[in-house]
This record gives sequence, structure tokens and C-alpha cells, in this order.
Amino acid sequence: MQVRLLYHTPDPERAVYIAARLCYSKHDIKDIERESLYKSPKDLIERLKRSGHLSVFEHAVFTFSLEGVSRVMTHQLVRHRIASYSQRSQRYVDETGFNYVVPPSVRENPEAEKIFREIMKKSEEAYRRLCSLGIDKEDARYLIPQGIETKIIVTMNARELLHFFTLRCCMRAQWEIRETAKRMLSLAKRVAPLIFKDAGPSCVRGECSEGEFSCGKAGEVRREFSLL
Ligand SMILES: Cc1cc2nc3c(=O)[nH]c(=O)nc-3n(C[C@H](O)[C@H](O)[C@H](O)COP(=O)(O)OP(=O)(O)OC[C@H]3O[C@@H](n4cnc5c(N)ncnc54)[C@H](O)[C@@H]3O)c2cc1C
Repeated sequence: MQVRLLYHTPDPERAVYIAARLCYSKHDIKDIERESLYKSPKDLIERLKRSGHLSVFEHAVFTFSLEGVSRVMTHQLVRHRIASYSQRSQRYVDETGFNYVVPPSVRENPEAEKIFREIMKKSEEAYRRLCSLGIDKEDARYLIPQGIETKIIVTMNARELLHFFTLRCCMRAQWEIRETAKRMLSLAKRVAPLIFKDAGPSCVRGECSEGEFSCGKAGEVRREFSLL
């Protein structure tokens, strides 16, 4: 999979800081913007998160491109509603010769991988035959497996990203969306380290929220995210 951060609000932490300062200051916005009043945003950003004043994080926006991911993954991704998406269309784009994602569990089992690849090959041949019989791509695609590779562009604001990372970086999330979310977090951290400092599953910030479904590996997960 290839995950790239295409664009983001020029100075995400400054955008959050100015929006928050405005709420609690008698100064004009242009004065708050002035360097002399622009102090380190660290304390303020931490306080905002602790107090749940999260709407100010909506002013920082991030756009990612995801390629070489499966439709299994993107089907889960697009359940996140506070976001914008553009995905390669199977109505307009010919999927002849499509690539697909092989899950690690299948890759590690030669017999399973053989079955998996046979079905993918047969599906691709069947798709091609339907198209050659004049069936529209939008109908021929019904027989394509969910493991087919796709490309998608996703835009989320920092508030939604924090929520998304909490759910999808958790060990309980499905492996492909977890890997995608981890790569997105790593890229977001580079441009907004204060905003995304403690981002990730709930156990990174404190107790695991999964109760009886907990993976029981909080220490391991904390280490994993401290290295991102
Ligand atoms: C481990 C895991 C397993 C899952 N299993 C399943 C499953 O078996 N079946 C299934 O269908 N889904 C499943 N999901 C998807 C899940 O139910 C959510 O649809 C998905 O995670 C999107 O999250 P969300 O609704 O919190 O947030 P988003 O859509 O990202 O929205 C962010 C937040 O905005 C608020 N919000 C958004 N829309 C509304 C609204 N209409 N009304 C009120 N508040 C709103 C909520 O506070 C929400 O948390 C699973 C998710 C995970 C992480």
C-alpha cells in the first residue's frame, strides 16, 4: 500500500491555536495572529484536548491519497462520515487485469494462497468475458472480489482524524485499515506533532476502552505508537 499526505492546512497547530485563543481572548483576531501574542501552542493544545474543546481542531484539514489498498479496506474507511472521499470508479474505469491485495494470513499458507489466486484469476477472466459480451463495466463488476486494489483520496479534519485513529489504530481493528491508519498517523504527526502527540488507540492515553475484548497488549501497543 502507498499512503501519502497530499496537502494540509499550512500551519495546522497555528490554525487550532488562533481559533482557540479567539474564544478566550478580548483581543482582535489580527492581534492574536501577531507573533508577540502567539505563544507556544503546546500547553493550550493539551488543555483543549483534556477539556474536550475539540471543535477548534476542525480548522486543521489533511488530505491523504491511498493506493494499493483493497475495497475491503475502503468499505470500512468510508463509514467515517465526517470526511470527503473520491474513489476510482468501477463504472467508468476498466478493471481488466486488476491487481488485488493478498492478506498476510493467506500469503503465509501456500495452499490457501493457491486457492486465493486461482479464484482471483477466474474472476478476472470472467469479468473480461462479460465485458467482451457487451455487458457494461458497472454490471460486470458485480463478480469482482472485494480484495481488488483501489485508489482513494480522503480529506479529514484533525478532530475526525483523532477519532479515526482511536478506533482504527486499535488492535481490534481489521489489519488493513489498522495499517492504513497507522501510516496516516505517522504522516500527520510529522506536520502537526502537538495535535497528534497522543493519537492512536485509547490505551496510548490511558486505560483500554475495549473491556472484555481487550487484546491485553497495552504495553506493546504503547511502545509501537511511541515509535511512530
Ligand atoms: C473494531 C470495529 C468493528 C466494527 N464492526 C462493525 C460491524 O460489524 N458492522 C458495522 O456495520 N460496522 C462496524 N464498524 C463500523 C462502526 O460501527 C462505525 O460505522 C465506524 O467505525 C465509523 O465510526 P463513527 O460512527 O464513530 O464515526 P464517524 O462517522 O467517523 O463520525 C465521528 C463522530 O461523529 C458523530 N456522528 C457522526 N454521525 C452522526 C450521526 N448521524 N448522529 C450522531 N452522531 C454522529 C459521532 O460522535 C461519531 O463518533 C466497526 C468499527 C470498528 C472500529
